[in-house]
Amino acid sequence: MVRRASQALLPPQWMLFNGPANAGGLALTFDDGPNATHTPKLLDLLGSYNIRATFFLVGGCMEDHPDLVRRIVAEGHAVGHHSWWHRSEGTSSRTLGEEVQQCRKLIHELTGLHSNLFRPPRGNLSVAKILNLWRLRQHVVMWNVDPRDYLMRSSAEAEAWARKYEPAAGDVVLLHDDHPFVLDFIPQIAKSAHERNLTFETIPTWINRLE
Ligand SMILES: [Zn+2]
Repeated sequence: MVRRASQALLPPQWMLFNGPANAGGLALTFDDGPNATHTPKLLDLLGSYNIRATFFLVGGCMEDHPDLVRRIVAEGHAVGHHSWWHRSEGTSSRTLGEEVQQCRKLIHELTGLHSNLFRPPRGNLSVAKILNLWRLRQHVVMWNVDPRDYLMRSSAEAEAWARKYEPAAGDVVLLHDDHPFVLDFIPQIAKSAHERNLTFETIPTWINRLE
């Protein structure tokens, strides 16, 4: 309900579901990392395809893997934050606001960047949370393509989804880099995008274009 109402009413740069009309490509987004096992391999793979993506990092994971946060940024990817504890329920807008500030502080300490992109864990939002996030000058980034990778149990499942997926300009694809099959999506998505002359763009480049 929040989603439907907000898509119709809210300024897209403050509540983004997909890219601007003049987007030349799609955005891959990775949530829930950094992950010691999968994120390094994912970065290698993205680098081999020359893909820049956007990572929504969890505070506790950043604290555990600060070198991976630095590597993500050093390799040209964009970063946003995804709460400190990844609690989807029972978090008040005030607690969420505190987690946002904690994550931003850590990202700044590690990379020098002022992150202003927030993705809500499990898309869980309320009007109070949205207003509080805006008060903190955070852009809320949702998605329009969700393979539900977290339910997949094999590489074959991930590859089958990617073969059927028809990328379109402005797509925001939701993936998770703490997921064992995250790599299996990439080669086919890269191929399909190339066939359609679509590039890979990052969320901040779109937000800059919308403002
Ligand atoms: Zn998440």
